[in-house]
Amino acid sequence: MSKFINERLAAIKEYTPGEQPRDKRYIKLNTNESPFAPSQSVVMAAERAAAGLNLYSDPEQTALTKKCAQYLGVKEDQVLMTNGSDEILNYAFMAYGSKNSPFAFPSLTYGFYKVFADLYGIPFKEIPLRDDFSIDVNDYSGLNVNIAIANPNAPTGLLLSVDEIEKIVCANPAKVVIIDEAYIDFGGQSCVKLVDKYPNLLVTRTFSKSFSLAGGRLGMGVANAEIIKDLKKVKYSTNPYNVNAMTAAAGIAAIDDAKYYLDNCRRIIKNRQYCIEQLVARGFNVVTSHANFVFAAHPLISGKELYLRLKDKGVLVRYLNAATAQNYVRITVGTDSEMTEFLTRTDEILSLIK
Ligand SMILES: *Cc1c(COP(=O)(O)O)cnc(C)c1O
Repeated sequence: MSKFINERLAAIKEYTPGEQPRDKRYIKLNTNESPFAPSQSVVMAAERAAAGLNLYSDPEQTALTKKCAQYLGVKEDQVLMTNGSDEILNYAFMAYGSKNSPFAFPSLTYGFYKVFADLYGIPFKEIPLRDDFSIDVNDYSGLNVNIAIANPNAPTGLLLSVDEIEKIVCANPAKVVIIDEAYIDFGGQSCVKLVDKYPNLLVTRTFSKSFSLAGGRLGMGVANAEIIKDLKKVKYSTNPYNVNAMTAAAGIAAIDDAKYYLDNCRRIIKNRQYCIEQLVARGFNVVTSHANFVFAAHPLISGKELYLRLKDKGVLVRYLNAATAQNYVRITVGTDSEMTEFLTRTDEILSLIK
Protein backbone atom coordinates (compact mmCIF):
# COMPACT_ATOMS: atom_id res chain seq x y z
CA MET A 1 0.00 0.00 0.00
CA SER A 2 1.36 3.45 -0.86
CA LYS A 3 1.14 6.49 1.38
CA PHE A 4 -1.16 8.12 -1.17
CA ILE A 5 -4.16 5.83 -0.71
CA ASN A 6 -7.22 7.46 0.89
CA GLU A 7 -8.28 6.59 4.44
CA ARG A 8 -11.37 4.65 3.52
CA LEU A 9 -9.63 2.33 1.08
CA ALA A 10 -6.66 1.93 3.38
CA ALA A 11 -8.99 0.76 6.15
CA ILE A 12 -11.08 -1.81 4.30
CA LYS A 13 -10.53 -5.50 3.84
CA GLU A 14 -11.08 -6.24 0.18
CA TYR A 15 -12.92 -9.26 -1.22
CA THR A 16 -10.80 -12.40 -1.61
CA PRO A 17 -11.81 -14.32 -4.73
CA GLY A 18 -11.56 -18.11 -4.69
CA GLU A 19 -8.12 -19.31 -5.78
CA GLN A 20 -7.44 -19.66 -9.49
CA PRO A 21 -4.05 -21.37 -9.16
CA ARG A 22 -1.89 -21.93 -12.24
CA ASP A 23 0.81 -24.11 -10.63
CA LYS A 24 -0.79 -27.41 -11.65
CA ARG A 25 -4.08 -28.83 -12.88
CA TYR A 26 -6.62 -29.09 -10.11
CA ILE A 27 -10.11 -30.50 -9.98
CA LYS A 28 -11.69 -27.11 -9.39
CA LEU A 29 -14.56 -27.33 -6.97
CA ASN A 30 -13.93 -23.99 -5.28
CA THR A 31 -15.59 -21.15 -7.20
CA ASN A 32 -18.93 -22.56 -8.35
CA GLU A 33 -18.15 -22.30 -12.04
CA SER A 34 -19.92 -24.61 -14.46
CA PRO A 35 -17.87 -27.67 -15.39
CA PHE A 36 -19.50 -27.56 -18.83
CA ALA A 37 -18.03 -25.50 -21.67
CA PRO A 38 -20.18 -22.86 -23.34
CA SER A 39 -22.18 -24.16 -26.30
CA GLN A 40 -20.63 -24.02 -29.77
CA SER A 41 -22.93 -21.20 -30.91
CA VAL A 42 -21.81 -19.06 -27.94
CA VAL A 43 -18.16 -19.55 -28.84
CA MET A 44 -18.87 -18.72 -32.48
CA ALA A 45 -20.87 -15.60 -31.60
CA ALA A 46 -18.01 -14.31 -29.45
CA GLU A 47 -15.54 -15.00 -32.25
CA ARG A 48 -17.64 -13.10 -34.78
CA ALA A 49 -17.95 -10.17 -32.38
CA ALA A 50 -14.17 -10.12 -31.92
CA ALA A 51 -13.85 -8.88 -35.53
CA GLY A 52 -15.57 -5.64 -34.49
CA LEU A 53 -13.55 -4.90 -31.37
CA ASN A 54 -12.17 -1.67 -32.89
CA LEU A 55 -15.55 -0.10 -32.08
CA TYR A 56 -17.03 0.57 -28.65
CA SER A 57 -19.72 -1.81 -27.52
CA ASP A 58 -23.34 -0.58 -27.46
CA PRO A 59 -23.62 1.38 -24.18
CA GLU A 60 -27.36 0.62 -24.05
CA GLN A 61 -26.88 -3.08 -24.89
CA THR A 62 -30.15 -2.89 -26.83
CA ALA A 63 -30.15 -6.36 -28.39
CA LEU A 64 -28.92 -8.18 -25.28
CA THR A 65 -31.34 -6.31 -23.01
CA LYS A 66 -34.25 -7.18 -25.30
CA LYS A 67 -33.22 -10.83 -25.36
CA CYS A 68 -32.93 -11.06 -21.56
CA ALA A 69 -36.17 -9.16 -20.94
CA GLN A 70 -38.01 -11.58 -23.23
CA TYR A 71 -36.39 -14.56 -21.56
CA LEU A 72 -37.43 -13.38 -18.09
CA GLY A 73 -40.86 -12.12 -19.12
CA VAL A 74 -40.28 -8.48 -18.12
CA LYS A 75 -40.09 -5.19 -20.03
CA GLU A 76 -36.84 -3.88 -21.48
CA ASP A 77 -36.83 -0.86 -19.18
CA GLN A 78 -36.85 -3.28 -16.23
CA VAL A 79 -33.44 -4.75 -17.08
CA LEU A 80 -29.85 -3.47 -16.84
CA MET A 81 -26.95 -5.55 -18.15
CA THR A 82 -23.67 -5.43 -16.24
CA ASN A 83 -20.11 -6.75 -16.11
CA GLY A 84 -20.94 -9.76 -13.96
CA SER A 85 -23.52 -9.49 -11.23
CA ASP A 86 -20.83 -8.11 -8.93
CA GLU A 87 -21.18 -4.92 -10.93
CA ILE A 88 -24.94 -4.59 -10.49
CA LEU A 89 -24.45 -5.22 -6.76
CA ASN A 90 -21.77 -2.54 -6.71
CA TYR A 91 -24.14 -0.10 -8.46
CA ALA A 92 -26.91 -0.89 -6.00
CA PHE A 93 -24.76 -0.29 -2.91
CA MET A 94 -23.51 2.94 -4.49
CA ALA A 95 -27.03 4.07 -5.38
CA TYR A 96 -28.94 3.16 -2.22
CA GLY A 97 -26.45 3.04 0.62
CA SER A 98 -25.12 6.04 2.52
CA LYS A 99 -24.18 7.05 6.02
CA ASN A 100 -27.88 7.61 6.64
CA SER A 101 -29.12 4.67 4.61
CA PRO A 102 -27.66 1.48 6.07
CA PHE A 103 -27.80 -2.08 4.80
CA ALA A 104 -28.61 -5.38 6.46
CA PHE A 105 -27.67 -8.85 5.30
CA PRO A 106 -27.26 -12.31 6.82
CA SER A 107 -24.17 -12.88 8.97
CA LEU A 108 -23.15 -15.75 6.71
CA THR A 109 -23.61 -14.85 3.04
CA TYR A 110 -21.80 -13.63 -0.07
CA GLY A 111 -18.72 -11.82 1.21
CA PHE A 112 -18.94 -8.97 -1.25
CA TYR A 113 -21.92 -7.25 0.45
CA LYS A 114 -19.77 -6.31 3.41
CA VAL A 115 -16.94 -5.15 1.15
CA PHE A 116 -19.23 -2.82 -0.83
CA ALA A 117 -20.68 -1.42 2.40
CA ASP A 118 -17.19 -0.75 3.77
CA LEU A 119 -16.01 0.71 0.48
CA TYR A 120 -18.79 3.30 0.45
CA GLY A 121 -18.81 3.94 4.21
CA ILE A 122 -22.30 2.46 4.57
CA PRO A 123 -23.20 1.22 8.08
CA PHE A 124 -24.50 -2.34 8.03
CA LYS A 125 -26.08 -4.89 10.28
CA GLU A 126 -25.24 -8.60 9.98
CA ILE A 127 -28.28 -10.62 10.96
CA PRO A 128 -27.46 -14.00 12.51
CA LEU A 129 -28.78 -17.15 10.89
CA ARG A 130 -30.57 -19.82 12.87
CA ASP A 131 -28.36 -22.63 14.17
CA ASP A 132 -29.21 -24.70 11.11
CA PHE A 133 -27.99 -21.79 8.89
CA SER A 134 -31.52 -20.92 7.74
CA ILE A 135 -32.76 -17.34 7.42
CA ASP A 136 -35.62 -16.34 9.73
CA VAL A 137 -37.78 -14.07 7.58
CA ASN A 138 -39.19 -12.38 10.69
CA ASP A 139 -35.72 -10.95 11.41
CA TYR A 140 -36.09 -8.83 8.25
CA SER A 141 -39.47 -7.35 9.03
CA GLY A 142 -39.72 -3.59 9.39
CA LEU A 143 -35.95 -3.04 9.55
CA ASN A 144 -36.25 0.17 7.57
CA VAL A 145 -32.81 -0.36 6.04
CA ASN A 146 -31.74 -1.66 2.64
CA ILE A 147 -31.45 -5.44 2.55
CA ALA A 148 -29.29 -7.82 0.51
CA ILE A 149 -30.10 -11.52 0.50
CA ALA A 150 -28.66 -14.22 -1.74
CA ASN A 151 -31.35 -16.72 -2.67
CA PRO A 152 -30.31 -19.51 -2.56
CA ASN A 153 -27.91 -18.22 0.06
CA ALA A 154 -24.17 -18.77 -0.34
CA PRO A 155 -22.27 -20.63 1.01
CA THR A 156 -25.14 -22.60 2.57
CA GLY A 157 -27.30 -23.28 -0.51
CA LEU A 158 -30.50 -22.82 1.51
CA LEU A 159 -33.49 -21.39 -0.33
CA LEU A 160 -36.31 -19.04 0.63
CA SER A 161 -39.66 -19.41 -1.12
CA VAL A 162 -41.11 -16.62 -3.28
CA ASP A 163 -43.73 -16.07 -0.55
CA GLU A 164 -41.02 -15.57 2.05
CA ILE A 165 -39.17 -13.12 -0.20
CA GLU A 166 -42.41 -11.27 -0.80
CA LYS A 167 -42.92 -10.98 2.94
CA ILE A 168 -39.50 -9.32 3.33
CA VAL A 169 -40.08 -6.96 0.39
CA CYS A 170 -43.53 -6.01 1.71
CA ALA A 171 -42.24 -5.41 5.21
CA ASN A 172 -39.62 -2.86 4.07
CA PRO A 173 -41.43 -0.58 1.62
CA ALA A 174 -39.26 2.47 2.34
CA LYS A 175 -35.97 0.77 1.39
CA VAL A 176 -34.55 -1.38 -1.38
CA VAL A 177 -34.45 -5.16 -1.06
CA ILE A 178 -31.82 -6.84 -3.26
CA ILE A 179 -32.38 -10.52 -3.99
CA ASP A 180 -29.22 -12.03 -5.46
CA GLU A 181 -30.32 -14.97 -7.60
CA ALA A 182 -26.87 -16.12 -8.73
CA TYR A 183 -27.88 -19.77 -8.11
CA ILE A 184 -31.61 -19.69 -8.82
CA ASP A 185 -31.38 -21.98 -11.87
CA PHE A 186 -30.36 -24.94 -9.71
CA GLY A 187 -33.84 -25.67 -8.44
CA GLY A 188 -35.16 -22.45 -6.90
CA GLN A 189 -38.18 -20.32 -7.85
CA SER A 190 -37.23 -16.87 -9.12
CA CYS A 191 -38.95 -13.82 -7.67
CA VAL A 192 -38.42 -11.83 -10.88
CA LYS A 193 -42.16 -11.77 -11.44
CA LEU A 194 -42.57 -9.64 -8.30
CA VAL A 195 -40.79 -6.63 -9.81
CA ASP A 196 -44.01 -5.35 -11.39
CA LYS A 197 -45.68 -5.33 -8.01
CA TYR A 198 -42.95 -3.88 -5.77
CA PRO A 199 -41.05 -0.67 -6.56
CA ASN A 200 -38.38 -1.52 -3.95
CA LEU A 201 -37.30 -4.93 -5.25
CA LEU A 202 -34.08 -5.47 -7.22
CA VAL A 203 -33.31 -8.98 -8.43
CA THR A 204 -29.77 -9.70 -9.63
CA ARG A 205 -28.82 -12.54 -11.96
CA THR A 206 -25.57 -13.81 -13.44
CA PHE A 207 -24.44 -15.84 -16.46
CA SER A 208 -21.41 -17.03 -14.45
CA LYS A 209 -22.85 -20.15 -12.88
CA SER A 210 -25.74 -21.82 -14.72
CA PHE A 211 -24.82 -20.33 -18.13
CA SER A 212 -21.12 -21.32 -18.22
CA LEU A 213 -19.89 -17.74 -18.77
CA ALA A 214 -17.90 -16.89 -15.62
CA GLY A 215 -14.97 -15.69 -17.71
CA GLY A 216 -17.22 -13.57 -19.94
CA ARG A 217 -18.40 -11.43 -17.01
CA LEU A 218 -22.11 -10.93 -17.59
CA GLY A 219 -24.86 -10.20 -15.10
CA MET A 220 -28.00 -8.13 -14.83
CA GLY A 221 -30.41 -6.36 -12.58
CA VAL A 222 -34.17 -6.76 -12.92
CA ALA A 223 -36.43 -4.23 -11.20
CA ASN A 224 -39.06 -1.58 -11.54
CA ALA A 225 -38.13 0.93 -14.30
CA GLU A 226 -37.36 3.70 -11.79
CA ILE A 227 -34.79 1.52 -9.98
CA ILE A 228 -33.23 0.67 -13.34
CA LYS A 229 -32.95 4.40 -14.09
CA ASP A 230 -31.10 4.92 -10.80
CA LEU A 231 -28.68 2.13 -11.60
CA LYS A 232 -28.14 3.41 -15.13
CA LYS A 233 -27.22 6.73 -13.61
CA VAL A 234 -24.45 4.96 -11.70
CA LYS A 235 -23.40 3.10 -14.83
CA TYR A 236 -23.13 6.29 -16.89
CA SER A 237 -21.21 7.91 -14.05
CA THR A 238 -18.65 5.13 -13.83
CA ASN A 239 -18.44 2.76 -16.81
CA PRO A 240 -20.74 3.37 -19.81
CA TYR A 241 -19.26 0.53 -21.89
CA ASN A 242 -19.45 -1.93 -19.04
CA VAL A 243 -20.38 -4.95 -21.17
CA ASN A 244 -17.90 -5.77 -23.91
CA ALA A 245 -18.99 -6.70 -27.43
CA MET A 246 -17.82 -10.33 -27.32
CA THR A 247 -19.59 -11.01 -24.06
CA ALA A 248 -22.78 -9.31 -25.27
CA ALA A 249 -22.83 -11.53 -28.37
CA ALA A 250 -22.10 -14.58 -26.21
CA GLY A 251 -24.95 -13.66 -23.88
CA ILE A 252 -27.49 -13.42 -26.69
CA ALA A 253 -26.38 -16.78 -28.09
CA ALA A 254 -26.49 -18.31 -24.61
CA ILE A 255 -30.13 -17.28 -24.11
CA ASP A 256 -30.93 -18.74 -27.54
CA ASP A 257 -29.33 -21.94 -26.27
CA ALA A 258 -31.07 -21.84 -22.87
CA LYS A 259 -32.17 -25.45 -23.23
CA TYR A 260 -28.55 -26.65 -23.33
CA TYR A 261 -27.76 -24.75 -20.15
CA LEU A 262 -30.90 -25.75 -18.28
CA ASP A 263 -30.19 -29.39 -19.18
CA ASN A 264 -26.73 -28.92 -17.67
CA CYS A 265 -28.37 -27.55 -14.52
CA ARG A 266 -30.39 -30.76 -14.28
CA ARG A 267 -27.17 -32.77 -14.52
CA ILE A 268 -25.69 -30.69 -11.70
CA ILE A 269 -28.81 -31.18 -9.57
CA LYS A 270 -28.50 -34.94 -10.08
CA ASN A 271 -24.81 -34.90 -9.13
CA ARG A 272 -25.57 -32.69 -6.14
CA GLN A 273 -28.01 -35.28 -4.85
CA TYR A 274 -25.40 -38.02 -5.34
CA CYS A 275 -22.72 -35.95 -3.65
CA ILE A 276 -24.95 -35.21 -0.65
CA GLU A 277 -25.85 -38.89 -0.22
CA GLN A 278 -22.22 -39.94 -0.47
CA LEU A 279 -21.06 -37.31 2.02
CA VAL A 280 -23.80 -38.21 4.51
CA ALA A 281 -22.77 -41.88 4.20
CA ARG A 282 -19.25 -40.81 5.22
CA GLY A 283 -20.50 -39.06 8.33
CA PHE A 284 -20.60 -35.46 7.04
CA ASN A 285 -23.21 -32.94 8.10
CA VAL A 286 -24.51 -31.56 4.82
CA VAL A 287 -26.78 -28.55 4.41
CA THR A 288 -29.73 -29.06 2.03
CA SER A 289 -28.49 -27.29 -1.05
CA HIS A 290 -30.51 -25.68 -3.83
CA ALA A 291 -27.37 -24.43 -5.58
CA ASN A 292 -24.45 -25.89 -7.54
CA PHE A 293 -22.43 -26.47 -4.38
CA VAL A 294 -22.79 -28.26 -1.08
CA PHE A 295 -21.76 -26.98 2.33
CA ALA A 296 -20.49 -29.82 4.46
CA ALA A 297 -18.57 -30.55 7.65
CA HIS A 298 -17.07 -33.73 9.07
CA PRO A 299 -16.97 -34.17 12.86
CA LEU A 300 -13.42 -35.57 12.82
CA ILE A 301 -11.60 -33.01 10.69
CA SER A 302 -11.68 -29.22 10.58
CA GLY A 303 -12.73 -27.43 7.43
CA LYS A 304 -9.30 -25.92 7.06
CA GLU A 305 -7.54 -29.26 7.42
CA LEU A 306 -9.83 -30.97 4.93
CA TYR A 307 -9.36 -28.12 2.46
CA LEU A 308 -5.56 -28.28 2.79
CA ARG A 309 -5.35 -32.06 2.44
CA LEU A 310 -7.64 -32.09 -0.56
CA LYS A 311 -5.57 -29.35 -2.16
CA ASP A 312 -2.46 -31.47 -1.64
CA LYS A 313 -4.21 -34.20 -3.59
CA GLY A 314 -5.17 -31.87 -6.44
CA VAL A 315 -8.78 -31.16 -5.46
CA LEU A 316 -9.70 -27.56 -4.67
CA VAL A 317 -12.68 -26.78 -2.46
CA ARG A 318 -13.49 -23.50 -0.71
CA TYR A 319 -12.74 -22.94 2.94
CA LEU A 320 -14.36 -19.72 4.11
CA ASN A 321 -13.11 -19.43 7.68
CA ALA A 322 -16.49 -18.18 8.88
CA ALA A 323 -16.82 -17.92 12.66
CA THR A 324 -20.14 -19.78 12.70
CA ALA A 325 -19.06 -22.50 10.27
CA GLN A 326 -15.49 -23.37 11.22
CA ASN A 327 -15.75 -27.01 10.23
CA TYR A 328 -17.42 -26.46 6.91
CA VAL A 329 -16.10 -26.46 3.38
CA ARG A 330 -18.03 -25.51 0.28
CA ILE A 331 -17.76 -27.97 -2.56
CA THR A 332 -18.83 -27.01 -6.07
CA VAL A 333 -20.81 -29.76 -7.75
CA GLY A 334 -18.99 -30.84 -10.90
CA THR A 335 -19.17 -33.64 -13.43
CA ASP A 336 -19.56 -37.32 -12.52
CA SER A 337 -15.83 -37.95 -12.78
CA GLU A 338 -14.95 -34.85 -10.74
CA MET A 339 -17.30 -35.96 -7.97
CA THR A 340 -15.82 -39.47 -8.02
CA GLU A 341 -12.30 -38.07 -7.75
CA PHE A 342 -13.32 -35.76 -4.92
CA LEU A 343 -14.95 -38.61 -2.98
CA THR A 344 -11.99 -40.94 -3.54
CA ARG A 345 -9.55 -38.34 -2.23
CA THR A 346 -11.86 -37.60 0.70
CA ASP A 347 -11.91 -41.32 1.58
CA GLU A 348 -8.11 -41.40 1.56
CA ILE A 349 -8.03 -38.48 3.97
CA LEU A 350 -10.71 -39.89 6.28
CA SER A 351 -9.11 -43.34 6.39
CA LEU A 352 -6.01 -41.79 7.98
CA ILE A 353 -7.86 -40.11 10.83
CA LYS A 354 -10.44 -42.74 11.79
C1 LIG B 1 -20.85 -15.84 -7.96
C2 LIG B 1 -21.74 -14.91 -7.22
C3 LIG B 1 -22.00 -13.60 -7.64
C4 LIG B 1 -21.24 -12.88 -8.69
O1 LIG B 1 -21.02 -13.45 -9.82
P1 LIG B 1 -20.52 -12.68 -11.09
O2 LIG B 1 -19.53 -13.61 -11.66
O3 LIG B 1 -19.95 -11.35 -10.72
O4 LIG B 1 -21.75 -12.53 -11.89
C5 LIG B 1 -22.93 -12.86 -6.96
N1 LIG B 1 -23.56 -13.34 -5.90
C6 LIG B 1 -23.34 -14.57 -5.43
C7 LIG B 1 -24.07 -15.04 -4.24
C8 LIG B 1 -22.40 -15.38 -6.07
O5 LIG B 1 -22.13 -16.58 -5.58
